[in-house]
Amino acid sequence: MKYISTRGTAPALEFEDVLLAGLANDGGLYVPETLPVYDSSEIASWAGLSYPQLAFRIIQPFIDNAIPDQDLKTLIDETYACFDHPAVAPLTQLDRNEWILELYHGPTLAFKDFALQLLGRLLDYFLRRKHKRVAILGATSGDTGSAAIEGCKRCENVDIYILHPYNRVSDVQRKQMTTVIGENIHNLAIKGNFDDCQEIVKACFNDQSFLGGDRSLVAVNSINWARIMAQIVYYFYASLTLGGPHREVSFSVPTGNFGDIFAGYLAKKMGLPIRQLIIATNQNDILHRCISENDLSKKPLNHTLSPSMDIMVSSNFERLLFDLYDRDGEAVARLLKKFNSEAVSLDDPVWQRARNLFDSQRISDDETCDVIARINKKTGVLIDPHTAIGVKAARDCNRDPSIPMVTLSTAHPVKFPDAVVKAGCEHPQLPPHMEDLFDREERYEVLENDIARVRRFIVE
Ligand SMILES: *Cc1c(COP(=O)(O)O)cnc(C)c1O
Repeated sequence: MKYISTRGTAPALEFEDVLLAGLANDGGLYVPETLPVYDSSEIASWAGLSYPQLAFRIIQPFIDNAIPDQDLKTLIDETYACFDHPAVAPLTQLDRNEWILELYHGPTLAFKDFALQLLGRLLDYFLRRKHKRVAILGATSGDTGSAAIEGCKRCENVDIYILHPYNRVSDVQRKQMTTVIGENIHNLAIKGNFDDCQEIVKACFNDQSFLGGDRSLVAVNSINWARIMAQIVYYFYASLTLGGPHREVSFSVPTGNFGDIFAGYLAKKMGLPIRQLIIATNQNDILHRCISENDLSKKPLNHTLSPSMDIMVSSNFERLLFDLYDRDGEAVARLLKKFNSEAVSLDDPVWQRARNLFDSQRISDDETCDVIARINKKTGVLIDPHTAIGVKAARDCNRDPSIPMVTLSTAHPVKFPDAVVKAGCEHPQLPPHMEDLFDREERYEVLENDIARVRRFIVE
């Protein structure tokens, strides 16, 4: 399988190179040239597979013989063996036809473990084979950093540099990153905000000459195709658990960078009968404005109770635009260039296509707390603020109560205790494997908000 760029001019690459590349050299994102499509009887034959068995079925065609099947099976088995629930992604029922898919049973308690645990193992596999060394460089507002460090800490040929804004991530989030001690792990607290961190990362990627030698940079945010690929699996898993493919299922997805819900869109294109795909946003609502009123314009960033979705521009939306514009990379490049400096709207037929594929809703902080409290009271289940946004959007947008509605539960409530306490619920407890998190030794460097300083750190 070949991968092509959403801006149409970068060379097509194989899986291994896409994994190591991050952005395409024309500024676009890589997507598969074609998708495998399955009919109903084939999907039905996967019912009863364990999570890792199903993951192998879904992932194998995307990797396309770059890894022998037996090795790939082992990598996938190891990836999901480190999750602390035997179902890996269990469903919990909230109401008659309403579920949450718990995606927080991985080592760092957020859904990002599904992809980053696998990504770390894939990197390790290819780098050993090539005898090559790389540096992972990423900026985080919280969840990606810890998931990337946990996923890649055992990779022999990888140095990890994660930038977070100094004093602006939650205590649990910071501890999850800085208490993983290893020669190859470097946490850099930058005296600035998340955008400053991201600017530094971008500048380093754009000009990698400072690295010298033969090291190169690898991206671990969701522009990396391997992350999207791994996330397709749980849409199939949830559907099969609820009677699919003989029955349609709808999904509501708490959305920031548009990676997670894009994986759901791909699952649908691959043949999974999905009725509705709901984009759930917080006050940072660019995607909701785009779907509901065809307004694609940047607004100042709001700090909300769901910080992992505090994103002004959703980078993976470009992957959808590429399909909406019939894979015309030039049209995508033109639109996004304009979008950088002014408000844009989609061509009308393109917008209609987007509206046929997605519903959307924006949820406020007050509504978020209200849902956390009501669900806890009615069912005893405690959900995190991101999940709460998904549940509320699902209820607002549901077109057919006879179809099972699944909200992706993207994080464990203990990661975001402020919202939970604000909702009037009890402070959640850390799970057993993390009980001593606050006693563990921390290690991180505090650096000025300065590109040259970070480059020097990486080189030294
Ligand atoms: C990253 C994250 C999201 C947003 O996912 P995207 O793929 O960026 O849309 C939602 N909830 C939590 C808890 C996250 O960590």
